[in-house]
Amino acid sequence: MTTVRSMVLALSCLFSTVGVGQEPIKVLIAVDMEGVTGVVTAEQLGPAGFEYQRFREFMTDEALAAVAGAREAGATEILVVDSHGNGQNLLIDRFPPEVRIIRSWPRPLGMVAGLDSSFAAVVFIGYHSGTTNRHGVRAHTMSSANITSLKVNGEEVSESGWGAMIAGTFGVPVVAISGDEAAVGELLVRIPGAEGAIVKQSISFHSANTMTPAAGQALIRERVREGVRKRGSISPVSPPSTEPVTVDITFKNYRPAEVLAYLPMFERPTSHSIQFTVKDMLAASQVFEFVGDYEIGLSP
Ligand SMILES: [Zn+2]
Repeated sequence: MTTVRSMVLALSCLFSTVGVGQEPIKVLIAVDMEGVTGVVTAEQLGPAGFEYQRFREFMTDEALAAVAGAREAGATEILVVDSHGNGQNLLIDRFPPEVRIIRSWPRPLGMVAGLDSSFAAVVFIGYHSGTTNRHGVRAHTMSSANITSLKVNGEEVSESGWGAMIAGTFGVPVVAISGDEAAVGELLVRIPGAEGAIVKQSISFHSANTMTPAAGQALIRERVREGVRKRGSISPVSPPSTEPVTVDITFKNYRPAEVLAYLPMFERPTSHSIQFTVKDMLAASQVFEFVGDYEIGLSP
């Protein structure tokens, strides 16, 4: 018993900075890359791009700025989720030792993996606008190659909206977001009290008027600090966990909808889309991740 208790104590000391008698304040920071300061094209976004290695550093610095802001607002435990591309972008040796980091895919909750109702707040860093938005650098939802629309209960949702609904199912509010003006605008329409750090103004899909990395990081730190500080006044997003959700996914190509509709759980309202209803956003997320990840040749 004593051994177990001292082990638990040692573990909690390792992973948090919470003091004796103090409630832990857990913050999840999901980090994407298209909305990072200065990002405009694929050259910054993946290992094949000539600027990728440099922009991994900027992405990491923005995540670190968010960590710093969250800690200044009282966060005692921080989980950072690498939610772009291969999920292996963040330079993990640059984070403070008490931070935990989720890497790679697949994962049932996708971009907000690791989230549960013990968290006090969620922060989105480096986010971009959704695929049906006419504005925003690299506007897309989950997969620019494969998906042209994602709806929950008939309403178009972007990655921030989808993540906010998963968080809402756990009763956790999204308190801050960084990205271009289109990405920030989408979340603030949904969550008026959240803080937005607009680090660039989009000009087109592949062009923006951007801040410098240092200026972007300073803004992120400030807005995240403010968002986490006022987390108690920001409402978690509906739909509530008690009501089923209906999801529509429209594919760029014909065959995913055709083949998925063989499964009785899927309707096929149009040639390129499927529709399904499940008990909550957590189940919806699992189905969505399955649709994106499954292929018969999966190995190992
Ligand atoms: Zn994304």
